[in-house]
Amino acid sequence: MFPTGIADLHLDRRAFLKGALSAGLIIPGLPLARAEPGRVRFKTYPFTLGIASGDPASDGFVIWTRLAPEPLRGHGGMPPDPVEVSWEIASDAEMKGIVRTGTAIARIETAHSVHVEVDGLEPGRPYFYRFRAGDVDSPIGRAKAFAAAGSDVSELKFASAGCQSWEDGFYTVWRHIAEEQFDFVFHYGDYIYEYARRSPDKSDRPIARTMPADFLLCVNLVDYRRRYGLYKSDPDLQAAHASCAFLSSFDDHEIANNWAGESDPRNTPPEAFLFRRAAAFQAWYEHMPVRRAVLPRGPDMLAYRDFRFGKLANLAVLDTRQFRSRQPCGDRIKPSCDEARDPARTMMGQIQENWLAGSLHSAEATWQILAQQVLFAPMDWRSFPWAKTTETAGNMDGWDGYVAGRDRVLAMLGEARAANCVVLTGDAHIGLALEIKEKSQQPDSRCVGVEFLATSISSGGDGSALLQNDAALHADNPHLKFAGNERGYNRHILNSKQWQADFRVVERISTAGEPVITRKSLVVEAGNPGLVDA
Ligand code: FE
Ligand code: CA
Repeated sequence: MFPTGIADLHLDRRAFLKGALSAGLIIPGLPLARAEPGRVRFKTYPFTLGIASGDPASDGFVIWTRLAPEPLRGHGGMPPDPVEVSWEIASDAEMKGIVRTGTAIARIETAHSVHVEVDGLEPGRPYFYRFRAGDVDSPIGRAKAFAAAGSDVSELKFASAGCQSWEDGFYTVWRHIAEEQFDFVFHYGDYIYEYARRSPDKSDRPIARTMPADFLLCVNLVDYRRRYGLYKSDPDLQAAHASCAFLSSFDDHEIANNWAGESDPRNTPPEAFLFRRAAAFQAWYEHMPVRRAVLPRGPDMLAYRDFRFGKLANLAVLDTRQFRSRQPCGDRIKPSCDEARDPARTMMGQIQENWLAGSLHSAEATWQILAQQVLFAPMDWRSFPWAKTTETAGNMDGWDGYVAGRDRVLAMLGEARAANCVVLTGDAHIGLALEIKEKSQQPDSRCVGVEFLATSISSGGDGSALLQNDAALHADNPHLKFAGNERGYNRHILNSKQWQADFRVVERISTAGEPVITRKSLVVEAGNPGLVDA
């Protein structure tokens, strides 16, 4: 399942007991006091960041929590000691039929987070889980193990979503995702934004929710941890995590706007930037329900990985940030330059490209899903108000800035005979549906797949049904089949015959509790690439 293994954290019970017996659990003024050796009592509720599950296999999934009585304080309000956390898995939502139990150790080095890889479960059915620390129970979560390899899967229903700037609006969209009881959610990234707090009197756009006054630009580990602490304190986001497993990924804002490999747009020397990348990766790992194989080593993290859903679908989560060349042509939306087509430049890096080719070759599923971050299909943005050009203009941070890398992926898809390719994307804070052509520079060439770009959960604030210059955008891009400017998520429902994608949106996020509607539904027929209205 994973490209390589990385060693375990060695969170074992013996080490915990040694720590507990050293009497470190009595600390005046902190919300944790000693009850008896190996047991703790919380004065303040420790599960303030909820629970989560993720990265399912056919026999289980990861369950996650973090003990953080005061998530905005240093150490989350926890003392330095290791704390035992027990967990249980049940076959029913009332937690009556317990099927698996165990204990894990929460340690200060990883922000008292817990990642348990639960196995021994049956494929394709929902389970329920909860944690206990001291005498406090966590909320109950629901998660499904995926179907067994080679088995028939009648239907898969999942969401893709991301871009959730705290200040820009309420997480109403997450509440609606929770209500759908999906098989899983693909989170493409921008789970946090690293920017300093916007001040209400200086901000150029409305602030729906202010961040604490001392929230500066995230640079070190404590900055990033506190940012996750704030974002994950949201009850709507917690409800979404409790409703199903997440396949977690990251884009730029988990680290720094438009970073690329070992560099950022401020020309920070790599040796300095890599300290920041290491801190950001550690905080991301601590807050995501991912497996130990993803555990960062310093500034490096192996987060590309694939998932198989019986004979129905194969999903490859890509990392389009860590191994990429710098954005060409000075970044931003602009007419392409020679640098964008330089075959030596890369979006995924050679090793990930080889891994993807192997993954595609061994996939026998009906649908081949590339779950990633930035726009894959070519797109002419010249009609956008901020494009500042009348010539054909691409986004140099997306695959239009990495033309040779995109052509190599298209060639891989052809070689592997991946008949039904679906690319999932985020980043743009608008919803798009596009057809992908065999020759990326020839719009009349054969359609080889489709792309669904999910709009933001909140980033950008309240939107509008139509984009400014909508008609011109469509005229410039005949392969564009839908564009929308509201906040929301994409719902995907697939079987062996067809894939339906629904653009689910809310009209406002500046006020909480707005209803969700389907703005557009499109269908792809298996064996016949292309988009038609549902
Ligand atoms: Fe974003
Ligand atoms: Ca960006």
